[in-house]
Amino acid sequence: MTANTPSLKVRCFIGLGSNLEDPVSQVKQALQELAELPDSRFIKASSLYSSAPVGPQDQSDFVNAVAEMETTLEAHALLDQLQSLEQKHQRVRERHWGPRTLDLDLLLYGTEQINSERLTVPHAFMQERSFVLYPLAEIAADTEIPNIGSLSQLLVACPMGTLAKI
Ligand code: ATP
Ligand code: CA
Ligand code: CA
Repeated sequence: MTANTPSLKVRCFIGLGSNLEDPVSQVKQALQELAELPDSRFIKASSLYSSAPVGPQDQSDFVNAVAEMETTLEAHALLDQLQSLEQKHQRVRERHWGPRTLDLDLLLYGTEQINSERLTVPHAFMQERSFVLYPLAEIAADTEIPNIGSLSQLLVACPMGTLAKI
């Protein structure tokens, strides 16, 4: 791409989660860091929510939120940025779906469907996760999820469960 090529902005949504080391602060700080990502603009974030963990139950409840951004970064470059923020928060990968200081998932990247070794977009489990769907609905109720359907339809099939606004 040359300097003169205008890059098209893509609207994307990031899911945030934390259940270690003061999760509310971790998520709030991560929202600020998202706002400072290169070639990107922070649009808005949902409220913070708490929810019981997915998978192993012998860990603390999670704090979750969803952020809306605009970016000219390519999707994998955005994932690189998200993973370096996770590293900055000293995330250690121990067990699958185990506790973590910060998890940043790329939920939606415009209307694109991506299936690479590193990246599945829309995020593979988003349609069944109340801690993704309800915060997303709070900030972008009319969202269409590529190849899956409307957010409003998904919400009908997804009870809030343990999810609660903080
Ligand atoms: P889940 O994907 O079920 O939410 P997780 O967030 O705990 O689980 P991680 O250990 O954070 O999973 O990520 C494992 C890998 O998933 C990452 O290394 C990344 O390459 C890959 N991945 C695939 N699609 C995405 C996506 N949409 N957003 C973030 N990571 C993704
Ligand atoms: Ca995740
Ligand atoms: Ca993740």
